[in-house]
Amino acid sequence: MDSKQLIELSNKYIANTYNRFPIVLVRGSWCRVWDIDGKEYLDFVAGLAVCNLGHCHPRVVEAIQEQAEKLIHVSNLYHIEPQARLAELLCKNSFANKVFFCNSGAEANEAAIKLARKYFKDKSENRFQIITMEKSFHGRTMATLAATGQKKFQQGFEPLLEKFIYVPFNDVQAVESAITQETCAVMVEPIQGEGGVNIPSTHYLKDLKALCKDKGILLIFDEVQVGMGRTGKLFAYENYNVSPDIMTLAKGLAGGVAIGAMLATDEIAKSFTPGTHASTFGGNPLATAAGIAALKAVLEEGMLENCQKVGQYLFEKLNGLKAEYPFIKEVRGKGLIIGMELTIPGASIVNACMGNGLLINCTSDTILRFIPPLVVTKDEVDEMLEILMPILDGVQS
Ligand SMILES: *Cc1c(COP(=O)(O)O)cnc(C)c1O
Repeated sequence: MDSKQLIELSNKYIANTYNRFPIVLVRGSWCRVWDIDGKEYLDFVAGLAVCNLGHCHPRVVEAIQEQAEKLIHVSNLYHIEPQARLAELLCKNSFANKVFFCNSGAEANEAAIKLARKYFKDKSENRFQIITMEKSFHGRTMATLAATGQKKFQQGFEPLLEKFIYVPFNDVQAVESAITQETCAVMVEPIQGEGGVNIPSTHYLKDLKALCKDKGILLIFDEVQVGMGRTGKLFAYENYNVSPDIMTLAKGLAGGVAIGAMLATDEIAKSFTPGTHASTFGGNPLATAAGIAALKAVLEEGMLENCQKVGQYLFEKLNGLKAEYPFIKEVRGKGLIIGMELTIPGASIVNACMGNGLLINCTSDTILRFIPPLVVTKDEVDEMLEILMPILDGVQS
């Protein structure tokens, strides 16, 4: 089948929930992918911050191959070796003592929401309301949709799950004003991804933690997008000298294999007892074997250092473009999640880049998002700019 036939097949049988670009990707290696016609693309999307190690990292490929020959799935009715080992690795490298595994970011946030409610039920406190942020993104299931502070995702699915309220990001005072005797938790992305790469001010997260502690409520960090090295630290919260009570992970956790995880301290995790929550596929041997390989690669192959170094370089280069192009409003980011806010829609720039062999993403209509694999090099950044700049030159503003 050629590209045209495959796109027709896809459009005929796949539910129409994505506006897909008209290319069929068939192969990837490090920071590059190839389409069915053999055209090469430099990939600054990385599967939407999933392929942090680059495409088909040999350690992940080998781990999947080895595990697939041994055992792909058994139920969580039994103990699973790679699951236990990945949980140990995550706990030893974070604030947490316990991990619940699932299969996606939304599921990890569902688990966090359920655990926060259950924790207070167990203490016989009537707290069930969760404060989240405007422009947040927490997933597409009914609970995480209600947690997501953006109307455009919620429209058509009402009535939403009750007891979520939204306040502006970066505003501790607004959170304080919103807390009632029903509040059980504050849920926040340390850096908002989907909502436009919004960076917290220096003290925001620390102040939030102090507030939550003072009010006796839980702080949940959704690190589904910015965890696993994306910001130059293994977890984004490490940049801000603060740790949450509960954290969720997914995207970059297993080198491209579907996985999700909710991490918590012992004190809080103990409210999940047998029968209170579950996932058939959660923490299965294949996904967790990939997760171990991915986490070790991030920690042992200098990816955090590379993310900081090349991230800084990319930031400076993109920020430097502001002087040349008046339609660039602001460049912001941390490590290798960088947003370039425009005064115009970004879609035509993304399309033009794709035509010239570069994949970038646009979020919230006007924000170009650069989220390359953490192994990206300065040369690849230069290569990216050589494609991007002529396209910016052609923009009518
Ligand atoms: C992508 C994302 C989610 C949802 O993850 P899925 O795996 O698509 O369910 C949740 N939170 C954040 C911050 C995300 O970026």
